[in-house]
Amino acid sequence: MSDSYSIETKCIQSGWKPKKGEPRVLPIYQSTTFKYDTSDQMGRLFDLEDEGYFYTRLQNPTNDAVAEKIAELEGGVAAMLTSSGQAANYYAIFNICEAGDHIVVSNSVYGGTFNLYGTTLKKQGIDCTFVNPDDSYEELCKAFQPNTKAVFAETISNPLLVVLDIEKFARLAHEHGVPLIVDNTFATPINCRPFEWGADIVTHSTTKYMDGHAMSVGGCIVDSGNFDWMAHKDKFPGLTTPDDSYHGIVYAEKFGKKAYITKATVQLMRDLGSIPSPMNAFLLNIGLETLHLRVPRHCENAKKVAEFLNAHEKVAWVNFAGLKDNKYHELAEKYMPNGTCGVISFGLKGGRDVAISFMDHLKLAAIVTHVADARTCVLNPASHTHRQMTDEQLKEAGIAPDLIRFSVGIENADDIIEDLKQALETV
Ligand SMILES: *Cc1c(COP(=O)(O)O)cnc(C)c1O
Repeated sequence: MSDSYSIETKCIQSGWKPKKGEPRVLPIYQSTTFKYDTSDQMGRLFDLEDEGYFYTRLQNPTNDAVAEKIAELEGGVAAMLTSSGQAANYYAIFNICEAGDHIVVSNSVYGGTFNLYGTTLKKQGIDCTFVNPDDSYEELCKAFQPNTKAVFAETISNPLLVVLDIEKFARLAHEHGVPLIVDNTFATPINCRPFEWGADIVTHSTTKYMDGHAMSVGGCIVDSGNFDWMAHKDKFPGLTTPDDSYHGIVYAEKFGKKAYITKATVQLMRDLGSIPSPMNAFLLNIGLETLHLRVPRHCENAKKVAEFLNAHEKVAWVNFAGLKDNKYHELAEKYMPNGTCGVISFGLKGGRDVAISFMDHLKLAAIVTHVADARTCVLNPASHTHRQMTDEQLKEAGIAPDLIRFSVGIENADDIIEDLKQALETV
């Protein structure tokens, strides 16, 4: 697709490109397998000598078309869909780390990612140091070790809405010879494209705004193609030394800028198999077609809701980077001048019990374990998503027990505010 097209056009047109007589709309290739005429043709695919489809666990045309669209939206060279955002964040790290390695991770990341990196990866021998992303450059440098292989953070963190200073983190990662991986789920490429600020790899839980309708769980990894693996040959043997499971192919030599995604696909996906179904990729593609219309409306509605809450006497605090007095307003203006996301967090006077009672009185906003879809929804992380964290961990991660995560949908903003108003009257 022409790079000159604007992001709105890419949302619609990127990815599936039908040839003469082919379906205009992305077909669902609901097939596990693909046919060849000769044994040799198929053999060459297994040697990675030819490109082509043979088994959906590795690649599927529907999934690939959607991955290509997301790659173009982010301005990357290649992408791979995964069955969930968790799988994306796992593969993003495991593709370049092995037992004995270490990663530096923002302590404000999504609870699921916090568990994955802080607990589960540790069991596989990959150690993790959590850092406060607001710390000074010098302070952050102290987290690095000789075996550090990546830095990971979220553009806007879920649920704390910490805005990442992407340039600071890119410099930090690059001065230590490792890539910066950014989870761009909340901002989406509509509001921020982290590659433009120096990030090397972007991940997504497509479950959120990209799908946008709470229909399918999914994830994606996008590579900018900018990180020079060969320049740090000793750090990334998985990419820079022969892979015995492919007759000694060296990914960084054979696939150049596409080495990282190729390895993730033909090695990790082959062996671990967290693929999305083509049906889910098809649904994700429908979501992507309207991403550029929905995201601005989410942001617009969220701003109105944040302003309403900010002025309400029963509300103790509101966290939304779109508010002028917000700690992250300046960073948000720099990295996301058109808005951050539709998610707000706030607390009520009286604390956690009042918050729970307030939530139970909401009528339009539903209590669901979800954010970032068309319908307004609400959650108390301390009681739900972050329930596994100890009080100490909650405190460390800056999650107040009374924090209400409010994901503003694309209904009429006045109706959302009316709902909040009536629920606030009951507490
Ligand atoms: C939801 C979420 C994830 C996990 O994604 P799933 O699709 O639920 O597996 C990861 N990162 C962020 C920022 C998220 O919001």
